[in-house]
Amino acid sequence: MNLILLGPPGAGKGTQAKLLESLYHIAQISTGDMLRAEVAAGTPVGKQAQAIMSSGGLVPDAIIIEMLKHRLTQPDCANGFILDGFPRTVPQAQALDVMLDAAGLSLNAVIELKVDDDALTDRIGGRFSCAKCGAGYHDQFKPTEVEGVCDVCGSTAFVRRADDNRETVAARLVAYHQQTAPILPHYAAQGRLHRVDGMASMEEVTQQIESVLSALPPR
Ligand code: AMP
Repeated sequence: MNLILLGPPGAGKGTQAKLLESLYHIAQISTGDMLRAEVAAGTPVGKQAQAIMSSGGLVPDAIIIEMLKHRLTQPDCANGFILDGFPRTVPQAQALDVMLDAAGLSLNAVIELKVDDDALTDRIGGRFSCAKCGAGYHDQFKPTEVEGVCDVCGSTAFVRRADDNRETVAARLVAYHQQTAPILPHYAAQGRLHRVDGMASMEEVTQQIESVLSALPPR
């Protein structure tokens, strides 16, 4: 199964993508995570991306498309993938169509998580993750069971994303509305776009996605 999760920053794409990865045994591909790894490793791509990411802008299409093209050839994608954070522009969506065509693959569904802009700043403001295993938390909506201890691996070290501050979030939202939202009609025209209420609880959102996926026609 090949899926795309679309939605503004803070809509819950990462959380849902991780759940779908284990439910459907498909690879979660987050271009944001890939870029953060490049930044941490100090690679040339990371150096170029760092300033753009901290301003809330988008990394150039050519870099991201090349990165994704390579990622899709990895063995863990053989059973399918879920894209989280890609495509983010019309040229990226067009490049993905070409890539999939060339590989004899197609998308089963594009799922848009609809969330009010007002809710996003609160959601993003409180999020943090375990520095060791990456489990995601939120100060208000999903605190750890024991304060300061990761529920999953017991680590006591946590990290917050550098671009989760108020100013950068505002710029990321502008980028979403101006550059990413225009790809929705691209997928609607292909009959692949499905909308889910991203304001519902995490469990309800997963259930809505599962019911969309179980009703899909065979491709
Ligand atoms: P994310 O983790 O998906 O919120 O992405 C964090 C940041 O990485 C974004 O604000 C962009 O600067 C950059 N980024 C991630 N994915 C893409 C993409 N597909 N195209 C351009 N920039 C991206």
